[in-house]
Formats: sequence, structure tokens, C-alpha cells
Amino acid sequence: MSIPFSPPRIDQKIIDEVVNAMKSGWITTGPKTKLFEKELAEYTGVPAVLCLNSATAGLELALRWFGVQEGDEVILPAYTYCATANVVVHCGAKPVFVDINADDFNISVSEIAKHITTKTKVIMPVDFGGMPCDYDAINALVNAHRVKDKFVPRNEIQHSLGRIMVLSDAAHSIGGKYQNNKVGGLADLSVISFHAVKNLTTAEGGAMCFNLPTPFDNHKVYNDLVIKSLHGQNKDALAKVKPGAWKYDIVEPGYKYNMTDILASIGLVELARYDNDTLPKRKYVCDRYSKLLKEYSWAQLPIFEDIKRESSYHLYPLRIVEITEKQRDGIIAMIAEAEIAVNVHFIPLPMMSFYKQQGYDISDYVVSYDNYSREISLPVFYDLNDRQIEEVVNVLIDSVERVVNKVSI
Ligand SMILES: *Cc1c(COP(=O)(O)O)cnc(C)c1O
Repeated sequence: MSIPFSPPRIDQKIIDEVVNAMKSGWITTGPKTKLFEKELAEYTGVPAVLCLNSATAGLELALRWFGVQEGDEVILPAYTYCATANVVVHCGAKPVFVDINADDFNISVSEIAKHITTKTKVIMPVDFGGMPCDYDAINALVNAHRVKDKFVPRNEIQHSLGRIMVLSDAAHSIGGKYQNNKVGGLADLSVISFHAVKNLTTAEGGAMCFNLPTPFDNHKVYNDLVIKSLHGQNKDALAKVKPGAWKYDIVEPGYKYNMTDILASIGLVELARYDNDTLPKRKYVCDRYSKLLKEYSWAQLPIFEDIKRESSYHLYPLRIVEITEKQRDGIIAMIAEAEIAVNVHFIPLPMMSFYKQQGYDISDYVVSYDNYSREISLPVFYDLNDRQIEEVVNVLIDSVERVVNKVSI
């Protein structure tokens, strides 16, 4: 039996809603996108949400809005997808990679503290696998007097905030909770991904959640970013299509980052069933894996819950104790022979050619490398059934035992 890693859940309900959107006479950004934004704001508990064509677009838009540019530094974990760092490079700023916690794979707050300089403008925590970062500690850090005193604002927006901005890469973590607050309202701005492999998908898409403190008016910032995400045009396509309303202005050279109503129609179905159907199923799959694996001393199980937090169960990041990167690769090759798709989250960015050429060195990120070298992400998706879960576990056990034994002979 062949088991994929994370296929999207495409059922008749999704197909019907996409067809409805296509027949509605309005396929690009319009009423469905606006409704999806409203429902996401209600779901995450923030004043406003802006839908975009990807999380990457949202992260870049946030950095551009804050005026991040050449000479600035942005702190982020070495252990993330390239999107988090690439957008910093696009702005001409310097990504400052820091190491992660061994237990939850999230950015280490003490490492952040060590790397703050007068050039630091933004911290981008990544909620790895759906587990929220330690936002109380991160928010306390950026608000500490000694850290605020170091902050050098370059523009009016940075002046108004008066400190380093916390921009959460919440690509994995919609539905995750921290101290009874939902992801979206944990940082100044949070960006969710709706890419095809993510928990809640629109095929491609993203959303920015606004949670800026006073004196900011989150609705006004939302309006400014609607314009910035659509060429700096002061009227969107729907407003322009009204008879006689053809005139518009370009107030800045903006981007082309808008979400379409066809994709929003998928998101609306997904969001409506997310808490009572999608999340419980993902939790069930993760719990099942843990139950089947916990008796094996080589299996280092991921954490999904603690006193402060609960994950969105985006990944099942298993680690195998005391193996090398080569052995891990060998285990994955054996699992692949059984037609089961597993993955590694993530190859740390200092190991990627581009970032290596920029001078980053993986030997500076000991925990990141250790976690990477022993990590195997198991399949987690809505339609994964008990028989398939057992098959994954059996093939995994067999592969680990074969690889580990072969080396010890
Ligand atoms: C998927 C992902 C992104 C990018 O999301 P897109 O919607 O594809 O742009 C960013 N950060 C992390 C950690 C991701 O896994």
C-alpha cells in the first residue's frame, strides 16, 4: 500500500463551493475573500485579517510595511523553511539566524537575547509543527527597558511602536493555543499559510492577523496593507467594476499579493470544519503514533501540549535517538522502498547553498543540526486511517532496527 505524506482533503463540499464561486460571476478578490477575512478574524480573535496569495507574501508585506531595509537585522530561527529568511533578504536586510530549543524545535529566547543589536528591527518566531513559541518571554524581551533603549527607529511606524516588532511565522499553527489565546493574537503581526500541505488549505494562500498595540489602529493598517498588496491602487477590482467608478490612483508602487474568491471559497469550507473535524483528526493521528511508538527506547516522541500551550498538530516530528544523519537518510530510503512518504523538517538554512555563501555555518547551530540529523516527519493528514498508521509504524520500526543493527555489527 502506498501512503502519501500530506495530501489535501478534497471532498464534494469543497468541489461544490469552488463551482459556486466560479458560477457567481466574480472569481478574483471579492465578497468571498472579504467573508473569509472576517471569519478568520473571529476565529483567531484579532481585530482584522488580510488574505493574501501566500504566507511568504504576508511576511514580506509586513517587513515592507515596517520599513525593514538595508542595514537592518531580523532575528529568526536557523531551523525553518526558506520563506522566513528569503523575505528578509528581499528587503535588503540581514537575517540573523539563532539556534532553537532541543525539546520543541522552536526559537530559543535566550539565543534571541544574545543576538539583539541596535540594528535589530524585527524578530520572527516560527511555530514549528504548530506548537506556539514562548510568546510571553519574547514579548517581555522586546518590551524590556534595556532592549527598548537599544532600538533605533528609522521611520514614523517604528517610532510609534518604539521597540522591535514581533512578526510570527504562524505558517503551521492556525488553531494552536498559548495561555488560552489562539495563534493570530500572540504577536504584533502573525502570518498563516494555506499552502496545499498545511493544516487548512486553499491550494495556495496566506493571511496576516493584525494585533498591533496602541497607538496603532489595526483597521487602518489593514486598509493600508490592502492597498500595498494590490499595486498601491486606491480602489480594488470590485470597487472599480461598478458602473462609472473607473477612476483610480496609484499611491505607491505596491505588490500583487491578493487572494482570489475561488481559493477563499475553499478556505471558508475548511475553516467551518476546522475545530470540530480537522484538528481532532490530526490530534488523533499524532496520539496514535505516540501510543504505538512509546515503548521503543529509540523513539524520541514530539510534544504537542504542555501547561501553557497546545499544538495545531501540523507535523509529527519524530526523532531517533543516537543516530547519525547518514543513518537517518538510510532509514528514510528504506521507508520509501515500502512506498511510504516521510519528510524531514527542516534542513537548517545555514546548510543551504545560498546561505552558506553568505557566510552562515551550521557548526554555529548545534541544536538545529542535532535535531535535523535525527528527524523524520511521519505522514499526517485527514484521510489517514488506522491501518495506514500501523503500516507506517511497522515499516518505520523495521527500517530503524535494520539500519541501527547493521552499523553496530
Ligand atoms: C509553508 C511555510 C511558509 C510559506 O508558506 P507559503 O504560503 O507557501 O508562502 C513559511 N514558513 C514556514 C515555516 C512554512 O512551513
